[in-house]
Amino acid sequence: MSSSRPQWSKRSLTAQAMGHVDPITKAVVPPIHVATTYIRDEDNAYSSGYVYGRPDNATVREAEGVLAMLEEAQAGALLFSSGMAAATAVFQALNPGDHIVASKVMYWALRSWLMTEAVRWGLKVDFVETDDLDALKAAVVPGKTKMVWVETPSNPLWTITDIAAAADIAHAAGARLAVDSTTASPVHTRPLSLGADIVMHAATKILNGHSDVVAGVLAGAKVDEFWDKVASIRKMQGAILGPFEAYLLMRGMRTLHLRTAAQARTAMDLAERFSAHPKIARVLYPGLPQHPGHDIAARQMEGGFGYMLSIQLTDGEAAAIRAAARVHLWKRATSLGGVESLIEHRASIEGPGTPCPPDLLRLSAGIEAVDDLFRDLDEALRVG
Ligand SMILES: *Cc1c(COP(=O)(O)O)cnc(C)c1O
Repeated sequence: MSSSRPQWSKRSLTAQAMGHVDPITKAVVPPIHVATTYIRDEDNAYSSGYVYGRPDNATVREAEGVLAMLEEAQAGALLFSSGMAAATAVFQALNPGDHIVASKVMYWALRSWLMTEAVRWGLKVDFVETDDLDALKAAVVPGKTKMVWVETPSNPLWTITDIAAAADIAHAAGARLAVDSTTASPVHTRPLSLGADIVMHAATKILNGHSDVVAGVLAGAKVDEFWDKVASIRKMQGAILGPFEAYLLMRGMRTLHLRTAAQARTAMDLAERFSAHPKIARVLYPGLPQHPGHDIAARQMEGGFGYMLSIQLTDGEAAAIRAAARVHLWKRATSLGGVESLIEHRASIEGPGTPCPPDLLRLSAGIEAVDDLFRDLDEALRVG
């Protein structure tokens, strides 16, 4: 990780991946470090700081340096082999009997893990609408609740939780606040500056941005016993990201600021145009003034409202599945944050018990021409 304090803007530092130059060849792109083991010095020390590939890797550290800079994370950042590996490491650092309060509307796989595996670990989990601060306040139990987990904007309704207020509530009860900021990106929201203790991203999504890496990251507000425990879990459980994936992620992040700006602009434009569409009953996007979380989003998000939106169709579930089947330019696939726009009928993939409305299509705005994206979906909606 770079020890020099950034003098340039985050955009400049990200574009140059912190400006590292290979000291031997002067290459502007650092090499990928693939070694699993390192030479011990004659005096038996490891002066480079590297010992073995499971705890640590130089290419991974370089990507972590960019992420720590973006999140202004004093504890630094830790890259994991997936977003789920990053998120679950936070919960595994808790102790049996600890109480967790989590957003009711959140990434489906993590919600499933919390309902099944976390319970087997002896953790107690309550799900509340964390955008309702009174409900959050009522759910935390002082002394018992150790973690409040918030996703904002949250999948797939893009509900907005007030991070600063949630941090106050968590801290007053003696709990930590962790924020899944995947759909906000470090460009639009900085949870640590709003009082969160840990920020998590599925780097699989907009951070990498090209739908070709699975990765997760945690960034910490400060080094303490809990953060050390999380780091130790990554090391002992072997959940570190591979060096080639770290390289691809760093390459993807060089254009992060361009992509987030373009994708948020497209999402906003589509949200506005679809608001007036006869086949659409409701557009869910925090950038729209009528979205219930708009005022808070306008306060806590900078430079845009993110790349994710959802639409609910006037003709219901069958019409939604039909429309998704008829698009050409939009790609009918799960996931989000890539340069190609994706469309998905969420209820189908989440299955029974999902809080996702059946008539909802989730849209991940990419970087294609917005007129093409509008026309393609407009035509798919109008047939039948
Ligand atoms: C994708 C995603 C995750 C999980 O990340 P993986 O890399 O798929 O494990 C967690 N939270 C959100 C909001 C996501 O979109």
